[in-house]
Amino acid sequence: MNKYEYKIPLMNVLRQYNIHRENINKEIQSVLDSGMFIMSSKVKSLESKLETYHGIRNAITVGNGTDALVLSLTALGIRNGDEILVPAMSFFATSEAVVQVGAIPVFVDINEDDFTIDIEELKKKVTPKTKAVLPVHLYGKVANMSEIVSFSKANDLFVIEDNCQSIGASIKEKKAGTYGDVSCTSFFPTKNLGCYGDGGLILTDSDELAERIRALRVHGSGINGVKSAEFFNDFENSNSDEYALKYFETKYNNSIIGFNSRLDEIQAAILNYKLDFLDSWNNRRIEIATQYNLRISNPNVTKCQFYDDGSHVYYVFPIVVENRDDFIEYMNEYNVSTGVYFPIPLHLQAAHANLGYSWGDLPISEKLSKYSVTIPMFPELMDEEVDYIIDVINAYEVKRDE
Ligand SMILES: *Cc1c(COP(=O)(O)O)cnc(C)c1O
Repeated sequence: MNKYEYKIPLMNVLRQYNIHRENINKEIQSVLDSGMFIMSSKVKSLESKLETYHGIRNAITVGNGTDALVLSLTALGIRNGDEILVPAMSFFATSEAVVQVGAIPVFVDINEDDFTIDIEELKKKVTPKTKAVLPVHLYGKVANMSEIVSFSKANDLFVIEDNCQSIGASIKEKKAGTYGDVSCTSFFPTKNLGCYGDGGLILTDSDELAERIRALRVHGSGINGVKSAEFFNDFENSNSDEYALKYFETKYNNSIIGFNSRLDEIQAAILNYKLDFLDSWNNRRIEIATQYNLRISNPNVTKCQFYDDGSHVYYVFPIVVENRDDFIEYMNEYNVSTGVYFPIPLHLQAAHANLGYSWGDLPISEKLSKYSVTIPMFPELMDEEVDYIIDVINAYEVKRDE
């Protein structure tokens, strides 16, 4: 086999930009010419477009996906000592956000075939302190939401979806991010819908929750802050004299302690343009995954459960190999990039050492952290590159000399 003439990247955002360069540049220029950079018309129109796209009442853009999680947990009233059920396999932000609001992440193992939270394991971890379930639609695969939602309802738990890796996925037309009480999305550049900086999104059907989140993202100011004060504050607002009332609804009246977490107009304009292409990009990801699934036939490589019903939008494509370092070295030799997400499961992260977990506690997460590896996946990956990657993988032989 001839080595490819260049290294095939794992992800590449420049190919997409170059295809849409002229239109995206126009969008950015229009913001520069407007002189409006924060929470203006581009953010408003993006939010209403995202509401229509998801079929949900409230789309609230924020600074990034991590903030989306922190603001959602805060708006639900999650606080000190509350326990939140979190899959052990995710990006660190999922459990970090839980600790940020003072709560305790309780780690749950995942399904071996699709990397999402194991509902039977989840049921075993509920205690009287459990307040919410935080399923992650990892790698683009929607978790088992019908079971998670019905179990949570029966046990009086909130559901917060970490939808950072799966925007546009759906189960029978119902979009990922619309199952829980609230959902969180990231517009990090490499995500399925990415901007050119940081960005995030919260979705909820609850107008009351939306009011609190809108207050939290701008320092608890304005009318949304006023309306949220009773929920957050354990004291009466004393500024109700005539003078204060005059300024009550302005941005310089702060009723609660909030955050500064906003999407800017430039990112909103870019996302406004890109949202129209999301479905076709996701379909291309599914097309590439279909080729990988059909044609990777090396017995040394284990593929995961394959889905082409729209419930998986293949943010990444993981495979499982016994000697990962050897496989990665081999792929490198043949100019194919690989990725390791995530080498350390959340329960074994140094920052969570105080929670007292050790190796062996969550065996599936540990196994997949050690042996899974991802191969190139992005919509602009070309057919000839896909063919070559499959050939290289199929020619892989495990070294027997160790
Ligand atoms: C990307 C990601 C986040 C964090 O999003 P940022 O925008 O980078 O803050 C959280 N959870 C998961 C599963 C992610 O993939």
